[in-house]
Amino acid sequence: MKKTIFLDRDGVISKYYPGDWTKKWKEFSFLPGVKDALEKLTRANYQIVIISNQAGVSKGLFGLKALRKITKRMKEELRKSGGRIKKVYYCPHQDEDNCSGRKPKVGLFKKAEKDLGYINFEQTFFVGDSEIDILAGKNIGTKTILVLTGKIKSKEETKNWQKQLDYVTTDLPSAVEIILNPPSS
Ligand SMILES: [Mg+2]
Ligand SMILES: [Zn+2]
Repeated sequence: MKKTIFLDRDGVISKYYPGDWTKKWKEFSFLPGVKDALEKLTRANYQIVIISNQAGVSKGLFGLKALRKITKRMKEELRKSGGRIKKVYYCPHQDEDNCSGRKPKVGLFKKAEKDLGYINFEQTFFVGDSEIDILAGKNIGTKTILVLTGKIKSKEETKNWQKQLDYVTTDLPSAVEIILNPPSS
């Protein structure tokens, strides 16, 4: 059975724009080392699932069509370097829409399980760049890794968070090292 890995998109895979969104493919840029890291995970027989809040859609900044195009190009680019994305789930809503898929809620994780079959969440990781990601991971019961390539720039900033995260590391490539060679506790 394939092992599953959950990833946030902006700030983990691609460049994060503070206070803004990736509205079209031209604005999408892969963070350093991400392509190789996802190739490694793919080769290690992980199925990679992306779970991403994209409230810019609900705010009218870009449409679902643009989002689908970005997803298609992203997957194509990754595939060229040997990385395969199994599923990409977006929540296009904002808080006031009260959607059960919007992280830190776990609707999209459950949707993934419905689509892919049983997932032992305790054995999986969620890699994200924000407190909301860490909360979402905790809410569904994954292990959590915070990377510092997005919203959060230092471990210091996580001091007063409600939930304890499992790992903080520099970027996705180093998160993948943790996933493939978990430090023994
Ligand atoms: Mg993010
Ligand atoms: Zn939603």
